[in-house]
Amino acid sequence: MSAKIIDGEAVAEQIRQQVAREVHQLVASGIKPSLAAVQVGENPASKIYTNMQAKACEAVGIEYKLITLPETTSQEELLEEINRLNHSDTISGIILQMPLPQQIDARAVQMEISPKKDVEGVHPQNMGKLFYGGGTVAPCTPMAVVELIKRTCNNQGGLAGKEVVIVGHSEIVGKPIAAILLQSPDASPTVTVCHIATRDLTFHTRRAEILIVATGVSQARWLRYKQMKKAGENPPPPDLSPLIKADMIKDGAIVIDVAINRIPKGFDENGEPIKNENGKIAMQTVGDVDFQAACEKASAITPVPGGVGPVTTAMLLANTIACTKESSRK
Ligand code: NAD
Repeated sequence: MSAKIIDGEAVAEQIRQQVAREVHQLVASGIKPSLAAVQVGENPASKIYTNMQAKACEAVGIEYKLITLPETTSQEELLEEINRLNHSDTISGIILQMPLPQQIDARAVQMEISPKKDVEGVHPQNMGKLFYGGGTVAPCTPMAVVELIKRTCNNQGGLAGKEVVIVGHSEIVGKPIAAILLQSPDASPTVTVCHIATRDLTFHTRRAEILIVATGVSQARWLRYKQMKKAGENPPPPDLSPLIKADMIKDGAIVIDVAINRIPKGFDENGEPIKNENGKIAMQTVGDVDFQAACEKASAITPVPGGVGPVTTAMLLANTIACTKESSRK
């Protein structure tokens, strides 16, 4: 079998077009959607994200406001800023950029963002609505995953009763995906959630008609290796091979690879990471799934990059619109 490659960029573009139409309607009725991103200190990784967010917002007509606070900002000062944005009539959504400096309790600050302006869908009130129904926003990556599955399943009889296995049970990815998939009272799939303590991962993944993987295990191993090196230890090269091998995938499965692992391309005969012509470590971005081999087993699969990632960014825009409508109701 040669799997269909699920084109996340194409899906993201369709979502962006829908968002742009809704922005147009809102603006015509006198409401201007706007997203405020709060960043504390200067961080190169954050800068990449904020640039991406700014461009994405601009493309659909959402106003984007980046608020950069000094690295030394205290918890109280950051909470004051959040409070100001919560009460601002000109801001419809708020996103807190990670990482935050050590003196800030990120979770505590995130909880202070008004649920009505919570474009990341992580406030307990919005998370709770994933269970009880009636929510308007949900965490962006789970929304993206479910959207990709629904679109892929359209030709395959929908989701009712399907065996779905999720590998990874974090609050922002695995758990909300399970909650969203179980929302239908009579047409939900059967959902299994695996994690680090799962005894026989292969037993579960081989049963999956839809396999969703979100662990980032290769990157975690690489970061641990780097830390040991920094501490003066001499560890052997880490095993950075993909967690999900082809023989762990059921024939014809739909595979959604959420992970983003930034890892070296390989190690040389001395056990050192291979360098490129600039003398820097040659890096690559890969998922948790052995993509090439999995293409021979799966019926459809998301690539990394280019699968879940672009749809996640598009969902941030969709959530901004949902928040704008929610705030305008008052
Ligand atoms: P996390 O570290 O919070 O959670 C990792 C999960 O993987 C945990 O549930 C853990 O139990 C499980 N796990 C770890 N090792 C395992 C193993 N050997 N076997 C089975 N399960 C194992 O990570 P997260 O924030 O949920 O992110 C997971 C991955 O998804 C990362 O690679 C991250 O970069 C990526 N991600 C991508 C997007 C996107 O938009 N594409 C968004 C969020 C996260």
